[in-house]
Amino acid sequence: MILLDGKKVSSEIREEIAAKVAEIRKSGGKIPHLAAVIVGNDGASETYVAHKVKACKQVGFGSTLVRLEADVKEKELLDTIDDINGNDDIDGVIVQLPLPDHISEEKVIERIKVEKDVDGFHPVNVGRLFIDQPSYVSATPNGIIELIKRYNIETSGKHCVVLGRSNIVGKPMAVLMARKGYPGDATVTLCHSRTKDIESLCRSADILIVAMGRAEFVTGKMVKDGAVVIDVGITRVKSKKTKSGWKLLGDVKFDEVAPKCSYITPVPGGVGPMTIVSLLNNTLKASGKEIYS
Ligand code: NAP
Repeated sequence: MILLDGKKVSSEIREEIAAKVAEIRKSGGKIPHLAAVIVGNDGASETYVAHKVKACKQVGFGSTLVRLEADVKEKELLDTIDDINGNDDIDGVIVQLPLPDHISEEKVIERIKVEKDVDGFHPVNVGRLFIDQPSYVSATPNGIIELIKRYNIETSGKHCVVLGRSNIVGKPMAVLMARKGYPGDATVTLCHSRTKDIESLCRSADILIVAMGRAEFVTGKMVKDGAVVIDVGITRVKSKKTKSGWKLLGDVKFDEVAPKCSYITPVPGGVGPMTIVSLLNNTLKASGKEIYS
């Protein structure tokens, strides 16, 4: 069994990005700049945004953090996005989700300029992904694709089962694995809460990608020998064994499943760190006008 070490791979990619930024700086080019907008004081969102801003600083990007109160009017948030859209120094923008109930996430996402939508959530970027046109791809599935590439995992003709059909993970993941070329050319089954006999579908998977948010759902008997297992899930549970009193669990029962696998991601340290470097990569692409010139 080989551990898919997202922590190690992501730190290699960060070094590659930092080297590119150093080159840009040397030649007097435009330094990539990410703006992050956070609404309210949700603890998890604060942590995610702080990690993203810190990652920008580490690779030498510029970053702007815009904080808005939880009771901000939708119009004020949309105006903030318009300002960022019009600011030529800012290459990419993310709005941390979820937003308070009185604000329409759809409206907010659609307001972001497609060229600056480095989260890849705008319908135009999603649509372009579906028809094989260059686009910003949602960070988590993009990070998984990068991990598969870096470990040279064979995907052509394989049966890939994706558990979970969210817009930001499961659905784009299924599309990426079914795309022509490498990584891709897989035969994909996309499962959700209404799927019948999920266990036998999982057992038929050469590559099993799990993004449900159901701690330790996938057990040893659901995985065939030699499978590649990628665990996206993160659930925080109480623990007496850690200093903080909390630990993170994936959607896969690691101890049971790992001995059967050819490759498996740990939680934490697998998919999570790859998500942030994908965002950095998208911001670098936005700055270099690689996708939309
Ligand atoms: P989500 O929007 O809540 O979607 C969950 C999906 O799982 C839904 O499609 C749901 O089916 C399906 N599902 C739930 N219970 C199921 C069951 N018992 N059997 C079959 N399908 C079931 O979740 P998400 O945003 O994709 O996130 C999934 C997990 O990944 C979460 O733990 C999240 O924290 C984690 N995550 C991690 C990263 C990272 O960087 N590591 C990034 C994003 C998300 P229905 O559609 O039928 O309801």
